[in-house]
Amino acid sequence: MKSLNQNVLTDVVNKLRDNSIEVVDLTHVLNEETPIISLPDPFVDTKGFKKEQISKYDDNGPFFFWNNISMGEHCGTHFDAPVHWISGKDYQHVDEIPAKKLIGEGCVIDIADKCEADPDYCLKIEDIEAFEAKYGEIPDHSWVLIYTGWARYNDDHEKFFNVGEDGHPHTPGTTVEAAKFLANEKNILGVGVETVGTDAGLAAAFDPPFPNHYFLHGANKYGLASLTNLDKLPPRGSIVIASPLKIEGGSGSPARVMALVEK
Ligand code: MN
Repeated sequence: MKSLNQNVLTDVVNKLRDNSIEVVDLTHVLNEETPIISLPDPFVDTKGFKKEQISKYDDNGPFFFWNNISMGEHCGTHFDAPVHWISGKDYQHVDEIPAKKLIGEGCVIDIADKCEADPDYCLKIEDIEAFEAKYGEIPDHSWVLIYTGWARYNDDHEKFFNVGEDGHPHTPGTTVEAAKFLANEKNILGVGVETVGTDAGLAAAFDPPFPNHYFLHGANKYGLASLTNLDKLPPRGSIVIASPLKIEGGSGSPARVMALVEK
């Protein structure tokens, strides 16, 4: 065991103390307004978040305040396990994922300008290659985080879902080719996004439908949805920590996701 003054973790804690490492919270507040995915017919939607008070220093519990909560596994800022998708059905449930695979370097690909111009914009292989040309190859064991600017709409459901006159949501995602590329050519932990799910609003009509889910989970990789504050991360070098609940046999879980960023 290393002595304290040589220990990299002690160094990290010291930098947390003096604020030279910042902890960026990538998680939205969870409440009854938290947006949840709305699927086209005939698919059944998940339930949103609900909170019900048990006691608050009253007759039901004079010394304590606590609540019961309920929600779907894929509610708010959340984690998608490989078994969430049929292509990953033989891989792990959320409780079976090694904790080591929840923590990795953040690689933030910024396509916010393109999504501002076109809400249906989907990450292309060229965007990934442009990122790598500028910042180096996406390393093994990293989280690829796609910054679209969509988190700023989280509290405005109309803008967040952006349903057009065609009745379909118009929100950014990933092309079939880029999803396949990230899943099969990169040894990453998974992909994180700011939208309600890891695929574009129109992705039910892609071939295959929902390609990010299909290819990433089919390659035993993970998803993070409804992230925020990606604009506060550098393109490379942050440490992203995802902490889904250890739900036995679960397909995913609401998660607190945070990043360590050295100033
Ligand atoms: Mn999900």
